[in-house]
Parts: sequence; structure tokens; C-alpha cells
Amino acid sequence: MAEVALVSCREYSLRTVKDNILEAAGLIGFDPACFRGARVALKPNLLSAVQPDSGVVTHPVFFRAVAEIVLDHGGKPVLIESPAVASLENAMHAAGYDPIVRELGIAVADIREVRRIACRSPKLFTYFDIAAAFFETDVIVNIPKFKTHNLTYITAAVKNLFGAVPGMRKAQMHMRFPGREEFSEMILDLYGAFLAGFEPPKRILHVLDAVVALEGEGPGSSGSPRHAGAIIVGEDALAVDYVAVQIAGLDSRLAPTVNSGFAREFGVASPDDIAVKGETIEAMRLEGFVPPRSPGMTAFLKRDLPRRIMKRLFVERPVPMEPSCTLCYQCQQICPAEAISPAGAGRKVPVFDYGRCIRCFCCQEVCPEGAITIRKAPMQWLLRCV
Ligand code: SF4
Ligand code: SF4
Repeated sequence: MAEVALVSCREYSLRTVKDNILEAAGLIGFDPACFRGARVALKPNLLSAVQPDSGVVTHPVFFRAVAEIVLDHGGKPVLIESPAVASLENAMHAAGYDPIVRELGIAVADIREVRRIACRSPKLFTYFDIAAAFFETDVIVNIPKFKTHNLTYITAAVKNLFGAVPGMRKAQMHMRFPGREEFSEMILDLYGAFLAGFEPPKRILHVLDAVVALEGEGPGSSGSPRHAGAIIVGEDALAVDYVAVQIAGLDSRLAPTVNSGFAREFGVASPDDIAVKGETIEAMRLEGFVPPRSPGMTAFLKRDLPRRIMKRLFVERPVPMEPSCTLCYQCQQICPAEAISPAGAGRKVPVFDYGRCIRCFCCQEVCPEGAITIRKAPMQWLLRCV
């Protein structure tokens, strides 16, 4: 049985967040005394260089609260993160992490150094190259943000570990596994590697920032911040993510990192294996939480129609919008399919080649202006009308 603590937290006030995280840890029997003398990896979500209130990144006050708990209990925190496209320095600066890291003396790992980690019962990958710094720590505290995600439906504890894979390697993986199900299986392979690939195995605590979540067109700036008032803590990432999906009132069957995860023998195999401590899911449930626009029938169609036709007729596409676009070309940098070119003369947005586009939505994820919207395909409009 996996225990998950669900506690209410109304605001990003340091004292409140810290007390609530400690309360949640206590509810599942996690004793912070285990940090004493340990090097503790802190893995926030710093997706890109965006402001803390965007709902896109782990809030700096939340990160600080976790770091202070580690320090208060004699641990040595090390920040390990690899943003999708921005440099870590820019992402930390924009999200307000710089003064925290300076004041508290938190080490920041060099994420360019990688080391190979083997997967347990892999489906697609037998190993991953992740930031080597994880190997030099004793305990890992994963500090994700709860967000919707146009490819994987949601992103929380399991998906946040993808940030352990340095920079552009992430985009290459999107290219290899463009579909929602296969991409999610790859993320689950990585989760399996974190569970069993270290020798000796490392203790991993997941502390989910859902005080303000992101709804709609997540996980980047196209999504909308939504006050959710929750902190979710557990040592089983699948269980943490399941509880997050439940409080958002979303359908966990559409979240393959949760649903397929139950079938992977990582620990919890169904909701019956999860014990929620603290608040009840019903008491914390959000009304009208907006899911991402996701193609429920895409996987089915992908098997039965030539990919190109299927894409054009049935799958939504990312569309850059004036006047929000500033032509920063971060979308072009991240695009694993090289489907984005500079704007032509007189045009104010980059040019997207939808024949090449694999619909990974990385461009939308990294766009700092929220300038990429998702446009439905003709058949989707038709089916909707019908
Ligand atoms: S769409 Fe977004 S990421 Fe792409 S160039 Fe415009 S502002 Fe930059
Ligand atoms: S254009 Fe956007 S959605 Fe299409 S492949 Fe490139 S990054 Fe992915």
C-alpha cells in the first residue's frame, strides 16, 4: 500500500508552505532526520525561463521551503535540473531562484556531465543518460509542478524526472517516440531506472507543488494558472500523480504515465493500492479544472491510416500567433523534427511545416510568450459538430 499525503496550502508564504510540507511528510511517516549528513538532490520543474507566477515552474517559495527543510535537518542540498531549451542560469534567474541558491548556499550541479542508468523491466529503453550529479547524492527530492500537458495529458511527479535527461537529448527522444502512449512508456522506463538503476537504490521523496497548478494548454505559457491549494507528498510517484489527477477531477485513464504505470509492477498496481492521508480527495476537488485539448482518438487512427493523412485530417496542430510572438525562435531550437523555419519577409511568426511536424508540442511547451495555440484538425471540427 502506498501512502500519499494530501494537505491544504492556500498561498506561497514560506512559513506556511514549510509547515505544510513537514506535516505532509509526517502523515506518511517520512522522517526528515534521514537528511542528516546526506547529499540531497533537489529536482524542481524549471521548464523554461518564465516568471514564478506563470504556473509553469515550481514556485521559488516552494523550492525554498524544501531546501530549508533539508538544511534544517543537516542535509546538503544540490539543485539538479535541465530546462528544455533555456539555459539553467536563465531559467533560475527568471523564476527567482538565484537569491535562494545564493542565500542558502545550495550547490547547482553541472548538468552537462551525464552517466548511464539502467532501466528495470524496460519497454522501450534499456538505459538512459542522465545528469551524473544524481549518482553523487544519497537522497532525491523530486519537486514537480502539477500541470496539464498536451502530449501526456498531465505532468507531475513521474514526468518531472524527464528533466534529469540533459537539454536537447529530450527533444531527440520526442522524435523517436512521438505518440502519447509510446512517449509515456519511455517516461515510465525512466521512472523504473530511478527506482532500480542506482546502486545502492536511493530513497526518493516526491513533493508536488499544486498550490497553484496549470490548467488548459499546458505545460508551458499557453496554459492558465489555477489556484488548487494543495501539496501532495509521497514516496511513490504513480500514487502522487493519481491523487493529483483525482483532485483536478480529470480522467486518470487518459493519463498514460499513471494508467500504464499501474501495469508496470513499480509498486502500486491500481487505485486500491493507494492510501490518502490528511485531506480527502473529495474535500480538495477542483470544480471545472480545464484539461488539455487532447486527441482521444489519435492512437486508434494512427494504427489505421497513413500517418500523413491522419495528421492532416485528424490531429490538432500547433499554430504560432500574432501579436504575441516575439520571433525569439526558442520553438525552432527545441523542435525535434526540424519543422520550424524563420518567418519569411513581412511575416511576424515562424513558418511551421505540418508535414514534418510530429505533434510533440515541445514548441508550445517552451514558447515563453504563450504564443502557440492548438488548432483542431478539420475532422475534429466535423466530428464535434456531428
Ligand atoms: S512562437 Fe513563441 S517560441 Fe516561437 S518564435 Fe514566437 S515567441 Fe518564440
Ligand atoms: S512544430 Fe512543434 S509540435 Fe511539431 S514537431 Fe516541432 S516542436 Fe513538435
